[in-house]
Amino acid sequence: MTAVATERLIKPHGGGLVDRTGERPDGVESLERVTLTSREVSDLDMIASGALSPLAGFMGREDYERVVDEMRLANGLVWALPVCLAVAAAPTGDRVALGDEGGNLLAVLDVDEVYEYDRAREAERCFRTTDEAHPGVARLFAQHPLYLAGRVTVFDRPTPEFAELAKDPAETRDVFGERGWRRVVGFQTRNPIHRAHEYLTKVALETVDGLLVHPLVGDTKSDDVPAATRVECYRVLLDGYYPAERVLLSAFPAAMRYAGPREAVWHAICRKNYGCSHFIVGRDHAGVGDYYGTSDAQLIFDEFEAHELDIEPIFFEHSFYCRTCGSMASAKTCPHASDDHVFLSGTKVRELLAAGEVPPEEFTRHEVAEVLIEAYRA
Ligand SMILES: [Zn+2]
Repeated sequence: MTAVATERLIKPHGGGLVDRTGERPDGVESLERVTLTSREVSDLDMIASGALSPLAGFMGREDYERVVDEMRLANGLVWALPVCLAVAAAPTGDRVALGDEGGNLLAVLDVDEVYEYDRAREAERCFRTTDEAHPGVARLFAQHPLYLAGRVTVFDRPTPEFAELAKDPAETRDVFGERGWRRVVGFQTRNPIHRAHEYLTKVALETVDGLLVHPLVGDTKSDDVPAATRVECYRVLLDGYYPAERVLLSAFPAAMRYAGPREAVWHAICRKNYGCSHFIVGRDHAGVGDYYGTSDAQLIFDEFEAHELDIEPIFFEHSFYCRTCGSMASAKTCPHASDDHVFLSGTKVRELLAAGEVPPEEFTRHEVAEVLIEAYRA
């Protein structure tokens, strides 16, 4: 039944869903070991689950170079960001064990090649800056000098922080299929959802069959709202204000790279693998500081033909509640002056919440505000 129902969904990027999970091979303890950073562990797990289809391992030089230069894999398929494994030295054998920083063995990698790369060039091309105050650039500049490429087989997957929200692409596709959804819009977030985001997810949902609320729960900057608090915010909002049969809440296990425009494309491609036909791209998607123009994450999609991505990006302006319109709106749909708009800066919202005050209902649902106030008290 499921196989038939999921046939109607968008095809994974490159045509098929990759599965790089497998049995733990004999003798893995005696292999040379490579220790992955938490970001690399997250990439490894996404390769295993097919979230990064068509990648079956960490990128070789040909793919890497073309991705950095042209946002394409060597075969021409659109791909926005390097997915590479940095090592201090070339391994001696043709197979290595991959482990995490806690000493757990997770996978084996069959060595394809080891190559040098240019950190400054990667930073300039992918992050549009070489400023080490940028968290993605800082990580890149601190990593080992060589990239190790090859297919991986993952035999031990990290325990997800929110087990009930962990769904691989094959699993979200099954859920969509079982619910009879064909057109599904994905929403990426790493922040609590306020009324503005509720509005745009619902505007998008009006035009498709279902909504995947897919918060990023991998590594973020330490000043982002903690994942546990955000997940609780999503739960109370969805329980109170969305029809259960039209929404799926699931965790997106990626680590933030803060690569702004390129990351928006990368996020869209990942969601295509999860079965989304549409993807919401707001202002400042995946940005940090003022490294990117507010529309850059939307404009970058113009660099591709629509059929190359297949998943359709849906662009949104900043939205707000307008007292004169009597509804949520944006500069596209409301002609009134900003005095009519209920808008609070992020700083102002944090001040209110830290003081135990609930922001206006037009800005945030009180259930969400209460979760945040509780978190500030703790
Ligand atoms: Zn208005």
